Amino acid sequence: MDIILFGMQGSGKGTQGKILAEKYGLTVFDMGSQLRSMIESGSELGVKIKSIVESGNLVDDDTVLEVIENFLSKVPADKSVLFDGIPRTLKQSEGLLKLLEAKKRQTFALLVKISEKEAIKRLTERRVCSSCKEIYPAFFDGNICSACGGELITRQDDSNLDAIKQRLENYQNETTPVINQFYNIDRLIEVDGEQAIPDVTEEMIDKAGYLFS
Ligand SMILES: [Zn+2]
Repeated sequence: MDIILFGMQGSGKGTQGKILAEKYGLTVFDMGSQLRSMIESGSELGVKIKSIVESGNLVDDDTVLEVIENFLSKVPADKSVLFDGIPRTLKQSEGLLKLLEAKKRQTFALLVKISEKEAIKRLTERRVCSSCKEIYPAFFDGNICSACGGELITRQDDSNLDAIKQRLENYQNETTPVINQFYNIDRLIEVDGEQAIPDVTEEMIDKAGYLFS
């Protein structure tokens, strides 16, 4: 069973996805590292990606799908994949589902759900170490820097508030319709991402663990 992970920036989906992948031995598809390894391979597709990235453009939907197809061709049929970071758009989602269907792979979507208000709170209320300046997310437990032992202080980071709001708006416009699609075909599992991290994990395993047994 393959899993497509969804969650707004600040939802902690990356942390939860990592836990799920480790617990059930899932192969993680991470777009960033896929693109890097394609470029390093020097293949025809890699050369194309390199020129897109170097020109400062976003990798288009068709190229994203080529990367996924290439990745899937190397995954054994009995190995489950966790997709993190894709699909971001309906076009990517439709293409991905076609690829998975052609390989007779089953898919569920998993949404770590937080409100936009909570996302903004988490993304702006970051703390910083007063000594080494390491940045910590709002949900980090404790007041001591794990790198140097310095004291963590709140830094209201409004300078990038507009950028954060823009990213959340893109998510609502482009990715929410993809999530709704999975809901409509009864292939969506939702967990409450506003709980403490271990509680989110527990709910996720309660609701999704059976998919891997
Ligand atoms: Zn520090």
